[in-house]
Amino acid sequence: MPEPALNLRYRKILLKVSGEVLMGESKFGIDPKTLEAVAEDIAEVVRHGVELCLVIGGGNIFRGVSLAGKGIERASADYMGMLATVMNALALQGALEKIGVFTRVQSAIPMDAVCEPYIRRRAIRHLEKGRVVIFAAGLGAPFFTTDTPAALRAAEMGCDALFKGTSVDGVYTADPKKDPSAERYESLSYQEVLAKDLRVMDASAISLMRDNQIPIVVFSIRERGNFLKVLKGEGVYTTIA
Ligand code: UDP
Repeated sequence: MPEPALNLRYRKILLKVSGEVLMGESKFGIDPKTLEAVAEDIAEVVRHGVELCLVIGGGNIFRGVSLAGKGIERASADYMGMLATVMNALALQGALEKIGVFTRVQSAIPMDAVCEPYIRRRAIRHLEKGRVVIFAAGLGAPFFTTDTPAALRAAEMGCDALFKGTSVDGVYTADPKKDPSAERYESLSYQEVLAKDLRVMDASAISLMRDNQIPIVVFSIRERGNFLKVLKGEGVYTTIA
């Protein structure tokens, strides 16, 4: 049963979740409790009728740059990173379906026995039917992080916002974990993010969102219930538009 309609700011969203969010307090891999909490927050938003697709990172398992130059070629290391995103996508799919949310995983690297291949029109159809589509394996190309595929899929799906769920509640003047005087921005323009080199997302992702006029909302997905709260325009976050 869908929940009563709320006055939500966006109706079709791509949520990018970085892999490290899934680690919870651990140093590696997937923490089951955190996975469950993230799935609950996503389910809450879907129940309010939002069309939602997801791009999930792989940093909790493997990042290409970490092995590049240490005996493994950068491109091969990046393919390993893309495979890590598929593992996270399957984990999140399992957690969502357990609580009654219908999902499909689509991978940019075809993996017939595991999930669907990425097919744009099919993904749009899934969204229309109320299914959450999880895009895995990034762009299927090395030398990128998952930020750029998140922006690309948001544009391809015709999303009205790109949400970036991280462990920090917005964009700061400096790293708030290292610098206590760092201040959070309420809003920024795409140009400011690029000019100040704020490292919210890769520059290619920011410019793709600028060219397509899709706002980016940076918020903390670590806090329970925060995703819906931010969608209602409440709580703490930074908007880039
Ligand atoms: N990756 C890639 N191409 C893509 C997406 C991802 O090569 O289109 C690789 C890259 O090595 C990256 C890793 O997959 O480091 C995991 O993604 P990311 O670092 O973005 O994960 P996050 O920081 O979001 O957890």
